[in-house]
Formats: sequence, C-alpha cells, structure tokens
Amino acid sequence: MSNYNMEMENVVKQIKKYNAKNIGLQFPEGLKIKSTAIADEIETKTQTNVIISGDPCFGACDVADSKMMDMVDLIVHYGHTPLPLKYKIPIIFIEAYSDIKINEVLKKSLPSLENYSKIAIATTTQHLQVLDEIKDFLEDNGKEILLKSSKSTKKGQVLGCNFSSIKNLDAEAYLFLGSGKFHPLGIHLFTKAPVIVVNPYTSEISNIKDLSDEILRIRFARIVKAKEVNIWGILISSKEGQYRFNLAKEIKKTLEDEGKKAYLILADNISPDILLPYLNIEGFIVTACPRIAIDDSSIYKKPLITPQELEIVLDKRKWDDYQLDEILFQ
Ligand code: SF4
Repeated sequence: MSNYNMEMENVVKQIKKYNAKNIGLQFPEGLKIKSTAIADEIETKTQTNVIISGDPCFGACDVADSKMMDMVDLIVHYGHTPLPLKYKIPIIFIEAYSDIKINEVLKKSLPSLENYSKIAIATTTQHLQVLDEIKDFLEDNGKEILLKSSKSTKKGQVLGCNFSSIKNLDAEAYLFLGSGKFHPLGIHLFTKAPVIVVNPYTSEISNIKDLSDEILRIRFARIVKAKEVNIWGILISSKEGQYRFNLAKEIKKTLEDEGKKAYLILADNISPDILLPYLNIEGFIVTACPRIAIDDSSIYKKPLITPQELEIVLDKRKWDDYQLDEILFQ
C-alpha cells in the first residue's frame, strides 16, 4: 500500500507567503480522491477559498493557469514537475512522492539484469526521490549506472512525451521503476535497448519487448489504413504545453503539397466525441499530447496518427525509423 507526500506544511507556508486569498488546486486523476480533504485543510489553516479544478489533468503541460487566472491568486499543482513554460500566475508544484518501499522488488529484479553491466535508470515523478537508492543498490551489485537530466526533465525522469533524459546514454539496458507501460515502451522505442520494468506496486518484473511488438503491429496497421486518406484533420491542443500550431501549419502545407486536403482543428480535450461532426474527414493527425494516438488508438474509428507516422504514410520516413512523437518543451 502506498501513500503520497502531499507536503501540507509546505503548501500552507507558501500560501501564507504569497498572502493569497483564493487558491486553485489541480490533481492528476489518481490523486483527485484526496482533493476535498486537502481543500478542507487549506481553508482551515489559511482562511482562503479553494477552487478544485475538475478537469482531467495528465501533466504539467496542462496547468489550469489560463482557466483560473481571474479566480485565484495561485495554483497548487500536484503530481508533476514544472516544465519550461510561462505560467500566467504563480504555481506551486508538489511532486507527491510515493512512499512505497522498493528494496524487495529491486532484489527481485537482479536476475533480469544479470547479463548487463551498464544500466541506465528511469522513472516518473512519483519515484524520483528513490533514484539514489536504486543507484546505490545496483552499484553495490556490481553495475555501472548511467543517469542524466534534460532541460525539461529531472535526472532519470521520463514523461509520456519526453525521453530526453535517457537518450544517447550508451546503456546496455534500462531499468524503469514505476507502473504502466507507456513510459518503458517509449524508452524501448527510443533506445531499442532492453527495458526491465520494475513495478513497485505489484512487485512484478517484466520486459517490454512483447508489448512493444504488439503496439508496433497496431501502429503499422493504422499507417497502412492512413495511406488511403485524402482529407485530413490536424488536431491542435489549446493546452499551453501541448500547443504546437507551427507544427500543425507545417503539416498542413506538406499535405497540400501532396495534393491532399487538410483542416486545422483546435480543441482543449481531444476525444472521439469531438471528432464525430467532421463526417468528410477521413483521418486525423494529432499535434497535441503524443499519448492520444498511441494509448487511445482503439477508441477512434478513423486513423488517428502522430506527425512522425504521417511521414511514414507519405514515404518521407522509413518504417524501420519508427519513432514516438515527442514534445521537447523548448
Ligand atoms: S503532453 Fe501528454 S505525455 Fe506530455 S506531459 Fe502532457 S499529458 Fe503527459
């Protein structure tokens, strides 16, 4: 059973320091269950009004500053690290580190790592505080550990759309600590190296290769179908960190040069429902969160692909150079 450090003492201190009267609270879905208790505690200890953001939030690319700027003096944003974006009001980022113990699951991972001596470590925000523990453990077991940070991520941190911290590390294998498959899948697709997934919640140790092969089969099928598309919709997100208008315009020009028709469509949240009215559009390219095309693929009836996948559709990139889409936040 894991708990998350919501840093209430620090949050109350910061709110008082800002002398804020109205506070916005934002949580990823998994932490929203704590929102009302946190609102109660903040209101009691700081005599402020708290407004909880009820919209889904999957990253620091989607801080509610634009939506809440006329309502609140500052936002407390839980579960993500800041990105190099210009937020419109002060934001306090609280990583919400998990307190789950990892020593047993690390021991369990050793047989899967026995053929590798140079290992890179990667994880998500909730486990960044145990990176040194993992490093020490593996070094004590004779491994050389490679770690680096990037402009948009901390040391060893990967986002669903950003793998800068694990690229060009010259590692023989990667150890990913965390739950879910998307991050290790990204590591594998970017590095082509073995990725050992260490899940501290289930104590499972797995290899991402089979899932990677399956996802690539699905992507290949979507790309083949997309070759028949003549009328495209290019989806742009209005979320600050996912907004890639220039990329969308470049794609539109490329498609028009290829004799295709393309429409630019701006939306906040992209879902199958919002695409229903565009009956004549045969396929969509997502310039918003790269996870949408990969993770949610099965819920879209028409081909929905990434900019890199479009390059394959248009024979500008080879299938062997398949890459996940990334947002570099620069
Ligand atoms: S763009 Fe998508 S993957 Fe990247 S931080 Fe935002 S929600 Fe996560």
